[in-house]
Amino acid sequence: MRRIEIFDTTLRDGEQSPGVALNADEKLQIAHQLSKLGVNVLEAGFPIASPGDFEGVRRIAQEVRNVSVAALARANAKDIERAWEAISGAESPRIHTFIATSPIHMLYKLQKSPDDVLEQAIQAVRLAKSKVSDIEFSAEDASRSDVDFLAKVFSGVIQAGATVLNIPDTVGYATPEEYAAFLQSIMERTVGIEKVKVSVHCHNDLGLAVANSLAAVGVGVHQLECTVNGIGERAGNAALEELVMALHTRKDQFNVETSIVTAEIARTSQLVSRLTGMMIQHNKAIVGKNAFAHESGIHQDGMLKERSTYEIMSPSVIGIDVESIVLGKHSGRHAVQQRLTDLGLNLEEGRFEELFSRFKLLADRKKEVTTSDLFSLADEQKEKTDLINLDYLQVSSGTHLVPTATVGLMFQGQRLADAACGDGPVDAAFKAIDKVLGTQGKLIHYSLQALDGGEDAQGEVTVSVKFGENLVAGRGVSTDIIEASVRGYLQAVNRAFSRGWIEILEK
Ligand SMILES: [Zn+2]
Repeated sequence: MRRIEIFDTTLRDGEQSPGVALNADEKLQIAHQLSKLGVNVLEAGFPIASPGDFEGVRRIAQEVRNVSVAALARANAKDIERAWEAISGAESPRIHTFIATSPIHMLYKLQKSPDDVLEQAIQAVRLAKSKVSDIEFSAEDASRSDVDFLAKVFSGVIQAGATVLNIPDTVGYATPEEYAAFLQSIMERTVGIEKVKVSVHCHNDLGLAVANSLAAVGVGVHQLECTVNGIGERAGNAALEELVMALHTRKDQFNVETSIVTAEIARTSQLVSRLTGMMIQHNKAIVGKNAFAHESGIHQDGMLKERSTYEIMSPSVIGIDVESIVLGKHSGRHAVQQRLTDLGLNLEEGRFEELFSRFKLLADRKKEVTTSDLFSLADEQKEKTDLINLDYLQVSSGTHLVPTATVGLMFQGQRLADAACGDGPVDAAFKAIDKVLGTQGKLIHYSLQALDGGEDAQGEVTVSVKFGENLVAGRGVSTDIIEASVRGYLQAVNRAFSRGWIEILEK
């Protein structure tokens, strides 16, 4: 059976989602999981974009194995040198360089003639080839480009040494049949196409990213670019889990296979959602909370008699374990440790004892400690490396009271505290944090939901906060929703601080 390669760009295109700002540690954590998931190529970032991006790519290239690591570069010498510097330590490095080829992009954005664009593309690939053998070339906005011009550019870059040609639908404008026909005619007109791999990269502006990618499989492309949970610029990219499970479940139609370990899909999806702060809609295909839930009586009856009446794939295939061991206040060290290992949550030495005592406190407050609870406890331990931490929180609010909050924070070994009033207790607490730190966050988005089902579920708060021009997301979990809100806000503050977007006033 023909093998389709999965090129994951969660850490590059996905990280460009508004509000997402991952630090190098978080990127590394996702990269390790992507390697476990079995992606063939992992696009780690855009090194020229910022020192933080560079550092994230460099560490992934050095530490993550069993996967090709790609770095993005515009078609110029500076970008390519920087990309190469970042990925030279990788097991199999790939430089991914691009330039726009559509009339609209060449005229307005690049302000260059088609001949200049062709020349620049060839020069860029030649330079990249002097550093590494694996070169991917993307024609940005390919789907709105002239077929003959595009074929000319592709023929030129193949001769210059490109090994993968990417034909993206950058603006999500294509429709499946049209896109397939377009790809076909490019492949017919490009000289040397049989020597290289052909790739597609589809955006979801019309909700067609997955459909367009699958149409491309039909005309024989070799590589699909996608992101976990479909995150990315604007409406996002083709969702990895949807592509993989469509190819897997309908092998009879597509006749291809991937190297993805499907049992890692759910775990990867949850990790990406947690670290990016981008929530997954409940009815999202494959990984949404309701994707395997059956509500109507008729459906439930059918399921009890025979699962295949309403179930086209089993949740266990994507790694949702229906019968996981229940952890509660009687669970011992060993059971908790074992469950953490099963979930791939390996804590640093010494951190386990702290987690275990937090686990005991939580088990006293709720009957069952779920997988989501464990992930949150583990996150909390990781957050201990944050520079600003919550020391204490005290709130008063009620029908006839002015909501007031006092917040104590630990920053550089100092205990800082202040109080503020607000429209409500959450607002008061956020204002108190800003007062303590001398920051000015503007809350753009706030949402609260139960971490998982059941009446004793923990509250999960996600926030997007704007500091100056920069938007950053944060997430907090607690049995107390005000505390969850404060933890979410503090995560956003920590992220903004580690990126140099805010300054903390010395007291
Ligand atoms: Zn893209």
